[in-house]
Parts: sequence; structure tokens; C-alpha cells
Amino acid sequence: MQGPKGTYDVLPPDQPLRESVVDAARRIFHVSGYGRICTPTFEDTSLFERGVGPSSDIVRKEMYSFTDKGGRSLTLKPEGTAPVVRAYIQHGMHRLPQPVKLWYFERMFRFERPQAGRYREHYQLGAEAIGSGDPALDVELIMMLAGLYETLGVPAVELRLSSMGDGNCRPAYAGRLDSFLESVLPRLCRDCRERARINPLRVFDCKNESCLSLLKAAPFLVDNLCQQCQEHFDSVTGLLDRFGVGYRIDGTLVRGFDYYTRTTFEFECARLGAQKGIGGGGRYDGLVEEIGGPGTPAAGFGTGLERIVMALKTEGGEPEGEAVDVFIIGLGQKARELAILQLAALRTLGISADIDYAGRKAKGQMKQADRLGSRFAVIIGDDEIEVGEASVRDMGNGEQERVEFPLLSDYLKERLTPGV
Ligand SMILES: [Zn+2]
Ligand SMILES: [Zn+2]
Repeated sequence: MQGPKGTYDVLPPDQPLRESVVDAARRIFHVSGYGRICTPTFEDTSLFERGVGPSSDIVRKEMYSFTDKGGRSLTLKPEGTAPVVRAYIQHGMHRLPQPVKLWYFERMFRFERPQAGRYREHYQLGAEAIGSGDPALDVELIMMLAGLYETLGVPAVELRLSSMGDGNCRPAYAGRLDSFLESVLPRLCRDCRERARINPLRVFDCKNESCLSLLKAAPFLVDNLCQQCQEHFDSVTGLLDRFGVGYRIDGTLVRGFDYYTRTTFEFECARLGAQKGIGGGGRYDGLVEEIGGPGTPAAGFGTGLERIVMALKTEGGEPEGEAVDVFIIGLGQKARELAILQLAALRTLGISADIDYAGRKAKGQMKQADRLGSRFAVIIGDDEIEVGEASVRDMGNGEQERVEFPLLSDYLKERLTPGV
């Protein structure tokens, strides 16, 4: 048997690197005042139809939707923002001091063609700041995500920045884009011709090289902003300049959701090959109202855990698995009983410890201690029991010492946490 197409298992050796990513994110969210939110794995399908937009690729092609036994149409969440906004409205968070700042670490589901670092079930870290239109908040989010990549050492990261404008400037721009698309329509791919009909801005989502080169001559929204949107954009770039954050303004950057307004951004990692996007987000001032709440400006980002892990692996090679601090080798029945008691004592002190459960001989147990990456091996045999001392071997340098049984756990604790 194999897992379903586009899914993967996370085995113990893969965990430390993933956990270090989540831990780093958790620290950044904490110091920036974001509280964690968990939302359900599935939502009403209509939430995503309204929230993500019926013309987006996600809603048109990529959702895992099903009808439950009560006849409701439900969807495994394909993205994190609409559920968070739904929760914001449902729990009356607009009555809290604004903005409300939330972060999440959740599984997302999309029916996409599986490729390197992209899965049908994947894990995403994200943050949403709901209830403020301040451009400084856009910059806070960009800086958090940039800080995460920097802390982790993600190599070759570049920031693309653009603006999607708003209801004020987008209609006039849409007219300009329409007439441009009409002039190149026969040369565009079939997907693009359909996009041009349903939601022309989506043509910039196309990954087809020939379409992309045609679209280079298209008018861009970021060059056609109204005064308020231009001022907002100038504030964002001004602050990024002050912070010394590098970015490239790119008019073809259109995030794959209909709800974005004004600032959009995407981080790319050049080491990831053709699919360089590693995380991004932007402002979505219309979404809260779209989902049934009061008109509320907001912004956020999401970044895929798998993409980060992949980028880190291009730099540092394969990560090592979880190592154990102490391996206890008990030789003989009586020694084994003592070893089991010592094992519990060490674990109570927070020291990771293990023993043999496979009936190995002395040599096999020593080998196992080595395989698990143990810092110390504790050897208990007849000899040791007679004098009331265990032999403690430092697996790093091979040095061996005798330690009285009652002092053993304190001795190891001290050796494992030097300077305390
Ligand atoms: Zn505008
Ligand atoms: Zn195309």
C-alpha cells in the first residue's frame, strides 16, 4: 500500500528541522504580538467561494469538496485566511481593540499536480492582522516573514512587491488591461483566454513561457494606482527602505486570490528552481465584509513549511534525527532491572534516555548506543552491581568513569548541561 498521491509521511528523522522552523516562527509571532488560532480542517464550501473568489484557480480546480451525510457541501481548507476571517467575525473580534493579530500553523489541502515541495496536503504557517489599514502593518508582516527566513538561514531569498489597488482604481485599469488582452488574445494559451473572459487580472498567474513574454508588454496595476493607493504603496516602500529591506517592484505579481487589495508581496528562493515562491501575502481590505462582517481592513501572509524545509536542505544537506542523551546498557537480569529504574530516574530529570529492548548482547547494545547518537553510555554489569557503581562512557571521546548509583542521575545531568 502507498499513501494517496500528493501526500507524504513525516518520519522521526525529518521532525527536528520542521520543529525548528515552527519554533522560530512561534518566537517571531510572540514578540510581534500575534496570538495563535486553530480553525477546523473543513469549512462550508461557500466560505471559500466567497472568500477566495469563484474565478480563482483554487476554487475552480483545486478544492477538496464533498457532501457530508447531512447534505452539506464542505471543503478541506485550501488556504488559511478565509477561515481566520470567518472566526474573527463569528467571535465578534471586531469589538476587541484593533488590530487583532493572529497566527496559525495548519494543514491545507489542494488538488494540484504534485511536484517538488508541493503536496496535496501541506502544512502552512501564517499570520493575519485584522482591523487596521496602516501601511506600517503591511511592513510589520513583511518584516516578520523576512525575519523568519533570515533566522532559519533560508538562502538566496528575494522579495517581490506590488499593489493590487482597490475598488477605486481597479475598474479603470481593468479597462486598459482588457483592450491589451484583446490585442494578444489569439496568441495566449487556452487557460489565459478563459481567464481574460472571467477575471483578466488572473492572466498574470499563467506559468506558460510564451504567455509570460507576451504579458511583459501589458499595463500593470502598480503603475496605474489612484492617489490613496499610491500613497499607501509609497509608505510601504519608504518604510522598507528605512529598514534596509531589499525588494523588487513587480507588476506581474498577482496573488492567486481575488480578495487582495493594495500591498501584495511574495518571497522567492532562487534555490527552489522553477517554482521559486516560498511564501507571501498582502492586504485584503474587502474580505471581512465579503464574508459577512463589518467593513474591516486587514493584511496577512502564509508560507509553506515544505518549501522552507526544501530550501534549507539545499544549503545544509540532510538533517540529523533526534539523538538520545544517555543509553543504558544492562548486562544480565539483575543489571537490567537496575537499568530500568535508572532509566525512569533520568527521564524524570528531563534527560532523554533509552535501553535495549531487542535482547542484544553487550557489543550489540554498545553499537545501538552509538547508532542513536548517545552522548553517554551507562554500563551496568555484575561487576558494577558488586561495587555499587555504574561505568559511564563519554561516547564523544571514549573516556570512562565509575559513578556511584545514587549519584548517577545528578552526575549525568551536570555533564549534559554544563555551566548550570
Ligand atoms: Zn486605488
Ligand atoms: Zn497562458
